[in-house]
Amino acid sequence: MSVQHSTETLHQMSDRANPISATVPFDEDGVHHGFLTLPWSRDDSAWGSLRIPLTVIRNGTGPTALITGGNHGDEYEGPLAVSEFANSAKPSLISGRVICVPFMNYPAFQAGKRTSPIDGGNMNRLFPGRADGSVSEKIAHYFQTILLPMADCVLDFHSGGKTLDFLPFAASHVLDNEEQQARCAAARDAFGAPYSLLIREIDSAGMYDDAAEAAGKTFVTTELCGGGTATPKSIAIARRGLRNFLIHCEILAGAVEPSKVRVLVQPDESCFHFAPDAGLLEPCKSLGDTVQKGDIVARIWSTTHTGRPPFDITANRNGLLIARHFPGLVQPGDCLAVLAVDA
Ligand SMILES: [Zn+2]
Repeated sequence: MSVQHSTETLHQMSDRANPISATVPFDEDGVHHGFLTLPWSRDDSAWGSLRIPLTVIRNGTGPTALITGGNHGDEYEGPLAVSEFANSAKPSLISGRVICVPFMNYPAFQAGKRTSPIDGGNMNRLFPGRADGSVSEKIAHYFQTILLPMADCVLDFHSGGKTLDFLPFAASHVLDNEEQQARCAAARDAFGAPYSLLIREIDSAGMYDDAAEAAGKTFVTTELCGGGTATPKSIAIARRGLRNFLIHCEILAGAVEPSKVRVLVQPDESCFHFAPDAGLLEPCKSLGDTVQKGDIVARIWSTTHTGRPPFDITANRNGLLIARHFPGLVQPGDCLAVLAVDA
């Protein structure tokens, strides 16, 4: 026990205010499987801790990639791709370092929920986090202050979770720094999902994306299907994309697997369609369908009365349907349909 304890103390990083420590070294060659450990005192474990699985693969000097899944706990392509990579990576094929965290919001992941059951934390709305905050805030703060500064390239996997379904795409953002925007877009396209999107966020405050981009990193995120599950096709896109990303970043040996990528953009907020009322959802267009302005993309039927006509949701603009609400029931304000157009 004392050896293990001293190892953990050794690898405590510089920010002493954050109680999270890594049980593996970040600066030694080889493959190191361990944990990010966070003291977590609770009813069923008074002096217990939360252990977030972590793998660090390093071979000599070179760039560092920080690879995450499970930022939201009900999205599965990322956890599957990052776990497989952590399990199978050969240091001899790496130049530099890959830090793998397959289940970033681990309590949420274990619960199969978007947010943490401990504190309700939505990891992608909490950045920069707080060293003295809730469990979720501490995890965000550790990424903000310890892991992001180590990284050159950051890949954060998302999918639609239980409430959205997406065309499979890798995404980058419009950034103030044109060089960085181009660098992120190039890594996004190298990922090689069927679609690449210059994405418009509708709620960007506190996102990990912003934290990584503000720190100047080459950042790529994804949306790879959804519905709270993963498919053989979406998992294959994630695994291939992870390898391509690392090859593009000159960390993994090999050549980027060429693929046909359709590049999309979202010109303005008219791409988003929200539910005006609650009810029973009738999707009228499928993901990947081309819609014209005025087309009915969905209908909301009354669940309290018969004899009432449904409410039609019509397309605000021409575009390609890239996302839709997944569950059969909707609430007022739910995001029902999202469009994008060819770049
Ligand atoms: Zn997500």
